[in-house]
Amino acid sequence: MNCPEATLVYSHAKRSYRDLPLRFAEIGRLHRNELSGVLGGLLRVRQITMDDAHIFCRQDQIKSELVTILKMIQEFYKRLGLPVTYGLATRPKKALGDLETWKAAEKVLAEALKEVGLPYQILKGEGAFYAPKIHFDIKDSLERVWTIATAQLDLQMPDRFKLEYTAENGKAERPAMIHRAIFGSFERFIGILLEHFSGALPFWLSPVQVAVLSVTDDALPYARSIHQNLLEKEVRSWIDDRNETIGKKIREAEMQKIPYILVIGKKEAEAKTVAVRARGKGDLGGMTLEKFMAIIKEDNG
Ligand SMILES: [Zn+2]
Repeated sequence: MNCPEATLVYSHAKRSYRDLPLRFAEIGRLHRNELSGVLGGLLRVRQITMDDAHIFCRQDQIKSELVTILKMIQEFYKRLGLPVTYGLATRPKKALGDLETWKAAEKVLAEALKEVGLPYQILKGEGAFYAPKIHFDIKDSLERVWTIATAQLDLQMPDRFKLEYTAENGKAERPAMIHRAIFGSFERFIGILLEHFSGALPFWLSPVQVAVLSVTDDALPYARSIHQNLLEKEVRSWIDDRNETIGKKIREAEMQKIPYILVIGKKEAEAKTVAVRARGKGDLGGMTLEKFMAIIKEDNG
């Protein structure tokens, strides 16, 4: 885990109440020696890359920090169109620290969830041994539930690592520590995303957004100019100028689930238009590049 290292970064300097909250983010790599039988595609791997962050704050800043994190996670998953369910995982049977501290930590997590207006379930006893946490779960296309993002309020680790800051009255105080991840792990996140969309990623997220297919050699210069034009407009365009039948080129581009296919033949070259095929919508007919740009601008939200 990356957490102990974050506490070292915190304590390498003297901290004052004015320095807090301190938010450390990292793209951290973790390893887990999973048995080969449980490895599965991107969903379960041995090397995990996490978007990890550790926030050190004063007791009176915990709630507002949690609210900020919850809003960030909510906004992120909304943008992707992934339906998230929220859960508050409470003290497990074997846990560090006293009951009172746990109750206080669970209460502040519940308050933050309420403040952001998120409906949530209580997941009794499912917290980590050192902290209660907010679970963010999504269901994939096979109805399997995956825990993705996380936010944990940890009142134990600062104690174990003797973290301190100087309070306004000059006394040494313990900061609170929040662990958070938005993606969870990049590997699993990409796996879930690909399954959720069955490979048909939203336009803005597609690695290739538009495929330009030439029908005949005499349409090639025009097809290349369209491709170039799209790239200059920051559209991720790809050109298929191979000497293959147009039927084959269309089939292959469709298999790649590219959102838009522009078919460029002699007719289009002469009329200075593009023949548009949209993923899931079929043939949209011929139009100028300006009109096509207006369509994809809408897709980009
Ligand atoms: Zn952590």
